[in-house]
Amino acid sequence: MVKSGFVCFVFMVFVLGTLAAQDQRGAEKSHQVILKYLGTAGWEISDGTTSILIDPYLSRINGPAPPGGGSGHSLAGDTRRAYGWGDVASPDVAAIDSHIQRADCVLVTHTHYDHILDVPHIALKTGAVVIGTESTENVMRAYGVPEEQLTTVRGGEDYEFGSFSLKVIPSIHSPLDHKHYFSSATAPAGMKAPLTLEQIHPEGGTLAYLIRFHGHHILAFGGMNYIEREIVGLEPDVALIGAGASRKEIYDYSGRLMRDLHYPALVLPTHWDNFLAPYGASQQPALDALQSFLQEIAAASPKTKVIVPKYFEAIPLETLAK
Ligand SMILES: [Zn+2]
Ligand SMILES: [Zn+2]
Repeated sequence: MVKSGFVCFVFMVFVLGTLAAQDQRGAEKSHQVILKYLGTAGWEISDGTTSILIDPYLSRINGPAPPGGGSGHSLAGDTRRAYGWGDVASPDVAAIDSHIQRADCVLVTHTHYDHILDVPHIALKTGAVVIGTESTENVMRAYGVPEEQLTTVRGGEDYEFGSFSLKVIPSIHSPLDHKHYFSSATAPAGMKAPLTLEQIHPEGGTLAYLIRFHGHHILAFGGMNYIEREIVGLEPDVALIGAGASRKEIYDYSGRLMRDLHYPALVLPTHWDNFLAPYGASQQPALDALQSFLQEIAAASPKTKVIVPKYFEAIPLETLAK
């Protein structure tokens, strides 16, 4: 009797264990990760419950061009207001609100206006935690984003957030203006909104992020550069790689990336579009210029799939068996 009771108990544990394992797989299946390109270096990564934003910039103002032109140049015939460095630019709240309903976390790579202009509004609207450099957090403070929403990082942190984890990667800025761009400036503490574009021009250092989310390892860059020793061994399955023209200033940019990252399954080019053009404008010149990047990746990593993202189009990642 005791023996058959024990066998029964073992059987029950086995059945329940199997059911639990199936349950877990079922739950994982419903947690499909979907990426959306917001333009410039902006992305949304979501499983329908948790939403992570990277450098969300939807305002796409007719602002000043980056040093040497970079990947932004004013569109001929653009009738929108042209902003200078001394001007205050307000975020395009209508554009943001039509695409960003919620966010749990906003990752900022650096404090140039094409990465940070919209972040204070998004943080105040959604209550999302803003993760970035001291420079990023000082811009948030100027707009009154509460301290409990600010997580300052410097690169090297590896943080657990429950539904995802985040490794902060020390990085460097695109070599704009034919390698003449350099800024060690940081947006200072004590600023008061509204800020001029000049005040959100200091780079404040540059970071990249590795997001581990439902088994995926998604590496996100905010521009066209990296520190090689910081990325060796990361092995992401998805890499958001800066594909603007300034990458050509860098020795074997795509080749070293593909080898160091051990040939990611999926590459999504980022920061390749002309961010001084509104959403509706043709990006054909930028798409033409992007072809050489696609060729570089194909040559360096023939098995890697590359998707040229369309604005706001869902890119579902393959659900990974756990
Ligand atoms: Zn920048
Ligand atoms: Zn940029």
